[in-house]
Amino acid sequence: MITQPVSVLPGVGEKRQQVLASLGIFTIEDLLTYYPFRYEDIQERNLLEINDQEKVTLKGVVVSAPVVSRFGYKKSRMQFRMMQEHAVFNVSFFNQSYLKDKVEVGEDIAVYGKWDAKRKSLAGMKILASKQEEDFAPIYHVTKAIRQTTLIELIKVAFEKFGNQIEENLPNHLIEKYRLMPRNEAVRAMHFPKDPKENQLAKRRVVFEEFFMFQMKMQGLKQKEHSEKNGISVLYDVERLKNFTQSLPFELTEAQKRVTNEICRDLRSPRHMQRLLQGDVGSGKTVVAAIALYATMTAGFQGALMVPTEILAQQHLESLNQLFDPLEVSIALLTGSTKARDRRAILTGLANGEIDIIVGTHALIQKDVEFSNLGLVITDEQHRFGVNQRKVLREKGWHPDVLFMTATPIPRTLAITAYGEMDVSIIDEMPAGRIPVKTSWISQKQFDSTLDWAQAELKKGHQMYVICPLIEESEALDVKNATEIYEHLAAYYAPDYKVSLLHGKMKNAEKETIMEEFKDAGSQILVSTTVIEVGVNVPNATVMFIIDADRFGLAQLHQLRGRVGRGSDASYCILVANPKNEMGKERMKIMTETNNGFVLSEKDLELRGPGEVFGFRQSGLPQFLIADLVNDANILEVARDEAMAVWQIKDWQILPEFSSLAKVVQPDAGETYFD
Ligand code: ADP
Ligand code: MG
Repeated sequence: MITQPVSVLPGVGEKRQQVLASLGIFTIEDLLTYYPFRYEDIQERNLLEINDQEKVTLKGVVVSAPVVSRFGYKKSRMQFRMMQEHAVFNVSFFNQSYLKDKVEVGEDIAVYGKWDAKRKSLAGMKILASKQEEDFAPIYHVTKAIRQTTLIELIKVAFEKFGNQIEENLPNHLIEKYRLMPRNEAVRAMHFPKDPKENQLAKRRVVFEEFFMFQMKMQGLKQKEHSEKNGISVLYDVERLKNFTQSLPFELTEAQKRVTNEICRDLRSPRHMQRLLQGDVGSGKTVVAAIALYATMTAGFQGALMVPTEILAQQHLESLNQLFDPLEVSIALLTGSTKARDRRAILTGLANGEIDIIVGTHALIQKDVEFSNLGLVITDEQHRFGVNQRKVLREKGWHPDVLFMTATPIPRTLAITAYGEMDVSIIDEMPAGRIPVKTSWISQKQFDSTLDWAQAELKKGHQMYVICPLIEESEALDVKNATEIYEHLAAYYAPDYKVSLLHGKMKNAEKETIMEEFKDAGSQILVSTTVIEVGVNVPNATVMFIIDADRFGLAQLHQLRGRVGRGSDASYCILVANPKNEMGKERMKIMTETNNGFVLSEKDLELRGPGEVFGFRQSGLPQFLIADLVNDANILEVARDEAMAVWQIKDWQILPEFSSLAKVVQPDAGETYFD
C-alpha cells in the first residue's frame, strides 16, 4: 500500500527512516511525491545565449592542454580552453588540479560552472563526461545524512513496487479540459523524465494540482465562513443612508459607488462578510468606511474602526466627525493614551450600546472591551495587524461582518492566495482633479542643490516632508539619522522657514503637537521617520524628499508618496538614493515611471519575491513546494476558478466523479492556514 511507511522498502532501516522523516517523508506516497527542486540541464547551450553569471553546462572539445599554476599555501588554478562551434572560451578550476587527468586535448567534455560573460570564461565546478551522463538530471533537497544517489535509488524502488497504486486525484473533466498529464505519469516524469519537454508537462500538472488543492481548501473555508448560520443581517435604513450620501461635499466616484454597493449587499445579506477593500492612497476609502459604519448604525448595530497608529485613529475620528456632522451619531475614540476615567466611560458606553461607532487602535482588542451588539468591524491598513489581532476583534461580536481596508495594493496572485477566503473590492479610480505626483531620483550628492530648487515651492507658501528611513535594528540610529538631517535642514533654511522633527521615540502628545503645528502651517518643513506613512492629510504639502529611498520597499515608497499630491497643486517626490546594486537602481527607476500602486506591487513581487513583499510571518502566506506564485500566476487563476466551480456544485463530495477529490479535500481542512 502506498500509504505504508517507507520502512517497508528494502534498505530502509530505523536510521534511514529517521533521515527520511527529517525531509518530511514518512510514507511511500511522500517519497514518490518528494519532487526534485530543480533539474540540471546539461543540454548543449549556445555560448551566445548565456547570461552573465548564469550556471550552465557547456559541452565542447578541449583545444588546449590544462595548465596548473600554484599560488599561496595549497592553492591552485587549472586553466584550459574549449571550443564550441568555432567559438573558443576559457575554463578555470580552483583547487581541483586532480581533474587534470580528465581533460585531454581533442576530447569532448561537458563542464558545469558559472559563466563570466566579460571574460568569456567559465568558472568550472564539475566536469561531466559528456557521453555517459543523462542530459537532464533531477536534483533533490537532501541533508548530509543522505546522498542524492541514495534517494534516487529509493524513489526508483518505490516507483517499481508501488507506482501502479498512484491514484488520480483531480476530477476527470479538468484533466481533459487542460490536457493534464495523469497523476501516475506525472510522478514518474517528475523524477525520471525522458526529456525536458516531458518534464515540463509533468510540472505543469503538479503545479496545477498544488494550486487547485490549496484553492479547494480555501474555497471550502470561504463557504463555511460565509454560511448563513455564521452571519448576521445588517438591515440598514435605505432612506437614511441615501440622505447621508447625498449630504457629502462631493459626489462619489464610480469606483466608490461600486464598492459601496458591494459592501452594502454583504451587510444586508445573512452571509458573513469578509471583504478586502483595496484602493490606492487618496482613492477615498475613508468615506466608504463611513457609509458602511453609518449603515450599520441605522440597523441598530455598533461599528468599530481599528487602525494601527494613534495619529491615524485621531485623523479618522476627525474625518468621520466631519462627514457625520449634522447627523446624530455617537462616536468615540479609544487608544492607548485614553485617560483611565474616559476609558471607563467609553467601556460602559460600548457595553450598553450608547456608543454607535468606536475608532481606535489595539486598545480596542483588550479583554475588558465589550460591545452591546457589534455588527461591523473595519480594519484600516490590515496588513499591519497580525491575523490573531484581527480575529480577537471579530470575536467581540457575534460574527460581525468584517471589512479589511488596505492602501497597499496586493498583487492579485498574492491576494488570491493569502486572502482566498475573502471577497475583494477594488477602488481603481482617483477622485477627479488630482494631478499625479511627479517623481524623480537623485543621488546623495545632488541633495543640497535640490534643496535650493525646493525653496521655490516653499516661497509659494507650500510645505515639505523629508522622510528618513526607519532602521529596524536600532531605534537609536533612526533618531540620530533623522536628527542629523533635521539639523542640516534647519541650518540650511534658517531663518526663513521653520523645520520640525518627528520620530518614533517621541511621546504621543509631543507627536500630536508637532503634527498639529505642521497642519496649521506653523512649520514648513517636517523631517520625520516613517511614522507619517499612513493617514496624514496636509494638502498644502507639495514636496517630499525620501532619504535613502532604496531602503524602502516599493509599496512603502508609494504609500509615502501618497502624502503629497492631495491638493490641487502640482507635487513632487524626490528619491534620494545611491543604490548599491542593479535591483536597487531598477526599483528607483520604476518609481519615477509609474504612479500606479498595482503596477508597482506586481513589480515588487517580481523583483523581490512574495516573501519580501508580504512578510511571511505575519501574513501566513503558504509556501508551495513546486508551484511558484510569480511564474505560475496564470495557472493559479485557472485553478482558483475551477475550485470555485466545484464548490458551486451542491454536495459535490458525494458525487462519483469527485470521489477521489473528496478524499483529498477533507472537511474542515485548510483551517490551519489562517487564524
Ligand atoms: P484613502 O483611500 O487614502 O484613505 P481618503 O479617504 O483619505 O483616501 O481620501 C483622500 C481625500 O480625497 C480626502 O480628502 C477625501 O475627502 C477626498 N475624497 C474622497 N472621495 C472623494 C470624491 N469622490 N471626490 C472628491 N474628493 C474625494
Ligand atoms: Mg485612508
